Amino acid sequence: LQERLSGVFDRLTRRGALSEEDVSVALREVRVALLEADVALPVVKDFVAAVKEKAVGQEVLRSVTPGQQVVKIVHDELVAMLGGVAEDEGAQAGQPFELRGLGLNLNVTPPAPILMVGLQGSGKTTTTAKIAKRLAEREKKKVLMASLDVRRPAAQEQLALLGIQAGIATLPIVPGETPVKIAKRALQTGALEGYDVVMLDTAGRLAIDEALMAEVAAVRDATKPSETLLVADAMTGQDAVNVATAFKDKVGLSGIVLTRVDGDARGGAALSMRAVTGCPIKLLGTGEQIDKLETFHADRIAGRILGMGDVVSLVEKAAETIEQDEAEKLAKKMQSGKFDLDDLASQLKQLLKMGGLSGLMGMLPGVGKIKNQMKDAKIDDSMIKRQLAILSSMTKEERRRPEIIKASRKVRISKGAGATVQEVNKLMKQHQEAARMMKQVKKMGKKGMMRHGLP
Ligand code: GDP
Ligand code: MG
Repeated sequence: LQERLSGVFDRLTRRGALSEEDVSVALREVRVALLEADVALPVVKDFVAAVKEKAVGQEVLRSVTPGQQVVKIVHDELVAMLGGVAEDEGAQAGQPFELRGLGLNLNVTPPAPILMVGLQGSGKTTTTAKIAKRLAEREKKKVLMASLDVRRPAAQEQLALLGIQAGIATLPIVPGETPVKIAKRALQTGALEGYDVVMLDTAGRLAIDEALMAEVAAVRDATKPSETLLVADAMTGQDAVNVATAFKDKVGLSGIVLTRVDGDARGGAALSMRAVTGCPIKLLGTGEQIDKLETFHADRIAGRILGMGDVVSLVEKAAETIEQDEAEKLAKKMQSGKFDLDDLASQLKQLLKMGGLSGLMGMLPGVGKIKNQMKDAKIDDSMIKRQLAILSSMTKEERRRPEIIKASRKVRISKGAGATVQEVNKLMKQHQEAARMMKQVKKMGKKGMMRHGLP
């Protein structure tokens, strides 16, 4: 898109208000890009109309070209339609790390039933196990999984096997039971044995049919789920609207999980589904392995749908988010050669604001390889958030004078952050290295100046 757009915008260098003609020309290209990303046609039409209304007549800012401005309007509108900027940083930032969850509603008398619905092969069973594992590990929930798929041979065994791999209990299989009966037994077992959450994995079909919908609706009536999640393949193209509408109308949905986001799909289905159902996209499946589950960030998917991997937007974003005084403060610090844990914390926060490591990486062309290496080394945003949690469970004094943090303080800090002492140690070491580098920068600066005859 960027290339095509810059072609158009090279011709639009004039300043002033964006005219209807300017915007229409640009939006023709946006339309093609959205269709290429597999956004459903009616959704594309609505989107383009909404952007047009916003863009025409807007004054072109002095610091950007009209092209950049339209791209920004398109991008912002896309983020808004996808559900806005993620809440988890804002709403949950005050909570200790282990309470920051997947954004699922478990706020009912336990066990909370979570109903997983979707077409066959969309990833329901895999995602059921992924969510269960995450709830158990991060949120310390006791989770029971039950497969209601009595149609596909060995479907129940598939879930049982995943349960063994993930260390999550599954409901014992009783041959011949109906889905409703299995669901009821799962909830009874859950209540009797003190489970917090019961995950109900349903059967799917290759296409939507009435019998499937009726079956899922009966399970819903029997269990009153606190979450009903539609699991959908990111590759779902124009069909996304039909699938999402059918499940929403017949079963009711509280959220959407998009799977196979690790594939080539540009994720247009996210926009289609969100637009027609109004349901939030809550989670993303990013691989076959059981730990490949991420919370949804509208801005990242927006960038992916538009295919905006370019340095200009990186620069723009950086300029937007790094407040001037923050930058000046940091520059002063670097000159002074001092770098305490507060400085580390503000750097990490800055990084997150800029869309996190993956957001940053996604904007640089040709960094796919580095990104994979980072993934292998488990360097990601959740690590940054974890480090921030550790930093925020330190006292002010400790952050200013890290040398006072001895063993007993480390234990307290790690407990407060829901982390291990090893993680605290690792962070301290990382900080020491950064501080050492700052000192070197200062020394080098002096030497350089001396060479030029300055004090
Ligand atoms: P179900 O029929 O909806 O229960 O789908 P399954 O959970 O059985 O998944 C179907 C296939 O998709 C399996 O081979 C999974 O390993 C694979 N799968 C599920 N989620 C993802 C994902 O996020 N990424 C990738 N690459 N594969 C996935
Ligand atoms: Mg299944």
